Amino acid sequence: MSTTEPSIFTRIIEREIPASIVAENERLIAFNDIAPKAPVHILVVPKTPEYANVAELAAGNPALLAELVSFAQTIADEHGGEFRLVFNTGEKAGQTIFHVHAHILIGNLGEDPRADFQ
Ligand code: 5GP
Repeated sequence: MSTTEPSIFTRIIEREIPASIVAENERLIAFNDIAPKAPVHILVVPKTPEYANVAELAAGNPALLAELVSFAQTIADEHGGEFRLVFNTGEKAGQTIFHVHAHILIGNLGEDPRADFQ
């Protein structure tokens, strides 16, 4: 994320651009991914823009990371309770938005992604 320009997620939090919001509290927001990779694909995003990825969040505010995981579980409970939680961390790992976020993926996930490793 640039230090001067707000991320897309900050613009969603500020209601500058629309999103299908599924849950929100003072510190976190969850909304449907615009390009879903599973039947349920929800992003959970801390409202603070200060952490670019999950490692920074873990180091800087572990309580907020724990709350994010619990928040994700509560959302997943509405869809049967079992879910994959993904944090792409770094460009080569597929991260495109450098405002920390978790992907909740539920349903029709196919193989465990670890199976790709040879
Ligand atoms: P990343 O690639 O950084 O792990 O995940 C970014 C995610 O944000 C992608 O899955 C992408 O589809 C989603 N995304 C990008 N722009 C928007 C947007 O404007 N609205 C919503 N709801 N999701 C977005």
